[in-house]
Amino acid sequence: MRSVGKILIAASVSVCLFAFTPPKDKIKKKKFIDPVNMDQSVKPGENFYLYANGNWLKNNPVPASQTRWGSFNELAQLSTQRLQTLLQDAASNAAKNPKVQKIGDFYTSGMDSAGIEAKGYQPIKAELEKISALKSVDGLLDEVAYLRVNGVPMSLLSISIGQDRKDVTKYIAQIGQSGISLPDRDYYLKNDPRSTGIRKAYASYLTNLFSLTGKTGAEATKSADAVMRIETALAKAQMSRVEMRDPYKTYNKFSWNDLSATTPSINWKSYGDKLMIKGMDSVIVQNPSFLKSMDLLLSALPLDDWKTYLQWQVISGAAPYLSNDFVKENFTFNQVLTGQKGMTPRPERISRLIDGSLGDLLGQLYVEKYFKPEAKQRMQELVNNLQQTFADRIKKLDWMSEETKQRGLEKLNAFTKKIAYPDKWKDYATIAIRKDDFLGNIQQTNKFAYQEMVSRIGKPVDKTIWGMTPPTINAYYSPTGNEIVFPAAILQFPFFDFDADDAVNYGGIGAVIGHEMTHGFDDQGRQYAGSGNLSDWWTKEDADKFKSRADRVVAQYNDFTVLDTLHVNGRLTLGENLADLGGLSIAYEAFTKTPEFKAGKKIDGFTPTQRFFLNWAQVWRSNTLPETQAQLILVDPHSPGMARANGPLVNIDAWYDAFNIKEGDKMYKPKDERIRIW
Ligand SMILES: [Zn+2]
Repeated sequence: MRSVGKILIAASVSVCLFAFTPPKDKIKKKKFIDPVNMDQSVKPGENFYLYANGNWLKNNPVPASQTRWGSFNELAQLSTQRLQTLLQDAASNAAKNPKVQKIGDFYTSGMDSAGIEAKGYQPIKAELEKISALKSVDGLLDEVAYLRVNGVPMSLLSISIGQDRKDVTKYIAQIGQSGISLPDRDYYLKNDPRSTGIRKAYASYLTNLFSLTGKTGAEATKSADAVMRIETALAKAQMSRVEMRDPYKTYNKFSWNDLSATTPSINWKSYGDKLMIKGMDSVIVQNPSFLKSMDLLLSALPLDDWKTYLQWQVISGAAPYLSNDFVKENFTFNQVLTGQKGMTPRPERISRLIDGSLGDLLGQLYVEKYFKPEAKQRMQELVNNLQQTFADRIKKLDWMSEETKQRGLEKLNAFTKKIAYPDKWKDYATIAIRKDDFLGNIQQTNKFAYQEMVSRIGKPVDKTIWGMTPPTINAYYSPTGNEIVFPAAILQFPFFDFDADDAVNYGGIGAVIGHEMTHGFDDQGRQYAGSGNLSDWWTKEDADKFKSRADRVVAQYNDFTVLDTLHVNGRLTLGENLADLGGLSIAYEAFTKTPEFKAGKKIDGFTPTQRFFLNWAQVWRSNTLPETQAQLILVDPHSPGMARANGPLVNIDAWYDAFNIKEGDKMYKPKDERIRIW
């Protein structure tokens, strides 16, 4: 949903429904749609997002330790605080309770600022010296494999084991484009003031970190130049994010031998062994020309430059976890990228890190303490209602042939639904976590994740794995799994609340459910069949009709100006925008079947339909720092909050009727310009 692959979102709530249930009388008084947060001086048809959220936006600036602030962030902050409570408790019980030893000692190691300070960059020193002593490109590549297998954070060589898109019953190795440190290739290639400013700050960051690891001023500058040259060359070889959305273009199957023929510096068969990828005869390469360029650069550029580059990968990957001088440099550079005013407090940083690395251990404790099991049941009912409504809508589509409809329905009915938390938790027994080795612990967990991944080779596909942890405020659709997934923590207000009326729950989590389902039928998802395989189930005519409708959605979103000259990239955000439009339309129709809708009684001054759309807008309220906004426009496949709230509305008749939107209102679109796809 939010920054989530197919993820729904990337993300005020003050009411923590599950943990601290307020007294009954307070619940009754709670306003799920609170006029205090609205700005009724703005007409709904002028800017619905501001009408619904104007006062909230004025009164809730981005806190110093954040880069944006909205419904998702408020809940994420609540999750982090809860994790922190669990971890503090685990830390004090780690010695006597084996169940919490790993997360407790991990937390202790991360909070041991004096111990971390005393070590300086000692934890990576031996690795840097080892790289200095390398004598050949082969040696360099071996070192890359060693770092990868042993969990040293590093961005060169993205290698993973995942389902084969064309035969999802099997795992296959996949090699992606990678190797740059800035958030997108554009930062290296564009010459506007924003990009050049960031490059300048990056050069200082490089120089400063090299100085901190013992290089003299001149050496540090020279090293920084070398890294910049290599990363710029790699950036040039990368595909754009829009190109990467094409699942066929990024599916290039090679035998190891054929791949080796395209990259003379690398014998992939034996290199695969070094990467612990054994017993596989082929590999999928996302961008073959990137690998070719990387290979050419390996022989064209001086080995010393490559060694410096690899050292940089090790230094920058470790910087946030070393002594204060490294952490500060890392933060100062991130400030230029994101605009964040103050550093995130250490306990929060450590809590999020452990959620990301031992998530199933921490997630179990989170679910026990903070999740109400009844919510799962209620959620299953909502998902089923939405699925049924979606099916009815497909049957009624006026632009699609019966043949394609039938296959679409098969796909919809084949959805796997995962709600709240996994049925099977990961076992981390083989990881040794120590109280006094923070970076070592990070590497241990990375190493475990890598080995767990390669251990899947040759085994049946494990469908119980989750791509998000329970305390995550998000949701996702996986095309190869044909599954929709909703972690426990998103089942909170404003998405969902037991005590809220249906309008609020359907406008919140209902639209989120519809969003994830529609991902199965967006510009990417529709190319996968119900089995999860990439295979075309559309007639040519229906596919053409879909594309021309989708092109109109691209044009609508291209029109949103975000920041000075920056516009939404309608092509990059197409999948998410289609999911929002489909999701909201399906959720609304499902809502019309509820008793609340049928009774039509106002609550707190608003009709059921008004409350439905007001909560939809409430979900997307968000203040974002301009620097972060500029970055998101380039890298985030999700549109900004205002575009997500307003974008689908202009295409939905019920919204016009509910708020009496008329010709002449800024958001008004004539009926023939309203886009209906799903
Ligand atoms: Zn999404």
